[in-house]
Amino acid sequence: MNYQGIIHRYKDFLSVTDKTPVATLKEGNTPLIPVQGLLEWLGAPHLKVFLKYEGMNPTGSFKDRGMTMAISKALEDKSKAVICASTGNTSASAAAYAAQAGLRCVVLIPEGNIALGKLSQALVHGAEVFSVEGNFDTALTMVRAMSETGTVTLVNSLNPFRIEGQKSGAFEIVDDLGEPPDCHFIPVGNAGNITAYWKGYKEYHAAKKCKKLPKMMGYQAAGSAPIVLGKPVLEPDTIATAIRIGNPASWQQAEAARNESGGQIDSVTDEEILEAYQALASKEGVFCEPASAASVAGLRKYVHAHKDFAKSKATVVCVLTGHGLKDPDRAIAVAPRPRTVKPSVEAIMRELNI
Ligand SMILES: *Cc1c(COP(=O)(O)O)cnc(C)c1O
Repeated sequence: MNYQGIIHRYKDFLSVTDKTPVATLKEGNTPLIPVQGLLEWLGAPHLKVFLKYEGMNPTGSFKDRGMTMAISKALEDKSKAVICASTGNTSASAAAYAAQAGLRCVVLIPEGNIALGKLSQALVHGAEVFSVEGNFDTALTMVRAMSETGTVTLVNSLNPFRIEGQKSGAFEIVDDLGEPPDCHFIPVGNAGNITAYWKGYKEYHAAKKCKKLPKMMGYQAAGSAPIVLGKPVLEPDTIATAIRIGNPASWQQAEAARNESGGQIDSVTDEEILEAYQALASKEGVFCEPASAASVAGLRKYVHAHKDFAKSKATVVCVLTGHGLKDPDRAIAVAPRPRTVKPSVEAIMRELNI
């Protein structure tokens, strides 16, 4: 049969029954792309690096894996409306799945810091969008309070079904590779996804679907790295808006994933993020959004600091959390400009110098 989405594929590992109404846009089943052109740039020619390209989900980010679960469970609970705070992708996903399910969707976004593609998605799917004078952390505090009134269902990653659905990314990686990678590199914002992947790997291990576990390697942006600094960041700042979060909701779970797996949580600068972003697009043909490139920037930083690892043949997965088209302004800002020429073939040939 055709692919039916992550709930259908992994129902034995998810808290659903035959009676759960499933809202799905056939999320998941995303490509695991072997890296070639990037190895030299990384400085590790023998590493086996794979990109888990989550931009290929229906709304262009991994949030769809969690949203199919959260919206399905909201339907099962007879909820009429869902609410979320969002740096963009959660609202895009919630709006799409709520539209399909026939639920109202209320979205709070931090004023001025949301990428154009994401905003357009929330709006076109018919969400009721409020731009809040404040950052993501302020908006999250507000939606938590609103959901406590019991009339609307919170679909941020504080909703346990979000984490449930997102762990399917780990299952897919093991199903593709046969075993988890040695190291799993991932951007960290609100820290739900690193929590979800670690949960997924552990559950597959417990079910004897794999024999080992990966080291979990999480990366925050240097201007919003509360876990690295060990304290909340009041005014987080980074061009990677999807991880511009100063007080992550799943902070403790992220530290547990790091500690239990023997991994690390470190930071990468905006400059390192943008170098990785451009290298991915120009050397590998993979267009992700800036926050996603934090995983690859993290890998490069780690390679440079660990000579033994750089020379090894370790298997590495980097999660690319969202699609590059989410943030077209950034792509245009960093890439070379188009050149203006006269409407003449000779003029272009001269420019090309071939
Ligand atoms: C949500 C998001 C993140 C951060 O994930 P967390 O679960 O909040 O740590 C990273 N990249 C993209 C593209 C996202 O949408």
